[in-house]
Amino acid sequence: MNRVLVTGGAGFLGSHLCERLLDAGQDVLCVDNYFTGSKRNIAHLIDRPYFEAMRHDVTFPLYVEVDRIFNLACPASPVHYQFDPVQTTKTSVHGAINMLGLAKRVKARILQASTSEVYGDPEVHPQQEGYWGRVNPIGVRACYDEGKRCAETLFFDYHRQHKLDIKVVRIFNTYGPRMHPNDGRVVSNFIVQALKGEDITIYGDGQQTRSFCYVDDLVEAMLRMMDTEAGFTGPVNIGNPVESTMLELAEKVLAIVGGTSRLSFQPLPADDPRQRQPDIAVARERLDWEPRVSLEDGLRETVRYFRALLAEGHS
Ligand code: NAD
Ligand code: UDP
Ligand code: UDP
Repeated sequence: MNRVLVTGGAGFLGSHLCERLLDAGQDVLCVDNYFTGSKRNIAHLIDRPYFEAMRHDVTFPLYVEVDRIFNLACPASPVHYQFDPVQTTKTSVHGAINMLGLAKRVKARILQASTSEVYGDPEVHPQQEGYWGRVNPIGVRACYDEGKRCAETLFFDYHRQHKLDIKVVRIFNTYGPRMHPNDGRVVSNFIVQALKGEDITIYGDGQQTRSFCYVDDLVEAMLRMMDTEAGFTGPVNIGNPVESTMLELAEKVLAIVGGTSRLSFQPLPADDPRQRQPDIAVARERLDWEPRVSLEDGLRETVRYFRALLAEGHS
């Protein structure tokens, strides 16, 4: 049995990851400061004998004994990471330093949840791992994008300098149950708006694209990456290469939810990438992985989750 630390374990992806690790018989320590995560996300895990939750901010040192670390702590949606941008950069950078320092001391394998945002608003399409990206270093998204880029730099320098056993995955847009209902991300926004009968807010002309991966597929890829042979560091793109425009996404959500919502066109946020699609050739080859859940099926599960959440009185 491995002792596995999951930072950001009470968040959307982290809570699914903790659950899968427990199901696989691992001893899980979830560390979270509950900035965007919640105890609700992990309430169903609390009574499991090999699960432990600790309130802690990763920008401060952490002294625990573990074999493996999944470093997910970081707000992920623009609304949340721009709320306190300095703290966002600190979380990515100081958080990475502390978790790498911890991994170095206890000789743990450590995986970083990086992001497709390291590619910025890309000139290369689809994005391969070798692409260096196009990020505005002084824009409003930079606290997240540059924070994550610096975290990758730290991971590779600890690997080269201190021989740390690192893994880096670049996660593309992921959705599913336990997304934050108010985090402003497009899938949660559209579903909640459709369920409430409110207008669907399309930013810009709705022709920008994203590629949406269902959470179960994503977690499977993270687990496979953690189990790859020592020396294989990545970075590896993980995401679903099926690309949709925001207008197509709105249509799919409306077809599932039904109701009377209409489309409302709003201004496009600053630095909003025009298109994004992962090239997952490396994940296919090295992880023997590709997404299995279609957008329709994944959206249906997500709609079911939000319907129940709203019925419980969450707004
Ligand atoms: P989330 O906001 O639901 O989860 C992040 C978790 O980190 C939350 O529980 C939050 O409370 C915690 N956290 C934030 N700052 C912290 C700090 N200083 N100390 C301790 N905990 C802290 O977001 P998510 O979608 O689950 O994302 C998880 C990770 O995956 C993030 O690192 C994110 O950058 C990355 N990622 C997610 C996506 C996506 O589409 N969901 C895409 C790319 C990358
Ligand atoms: N650190 C930690 N837990 C540990 C070991 C280190 O949080 O078990 C933190 C500590 O705050 C340190 C950082 O990780 O500043 C980087 O550690 P490293 O050993 O690389 O550097 P140094 O201690 O020399 O600053
Ligand atoms: N978006 C939208 N309506 C919304 C929320 C987002 O049209 O209510 C757009 C947003 O401008 C972006 C895309 O959907 O082009 C994805 O946004 P999200 O914040 O989910 O992810 P990210 O931009 O970080 O990929």
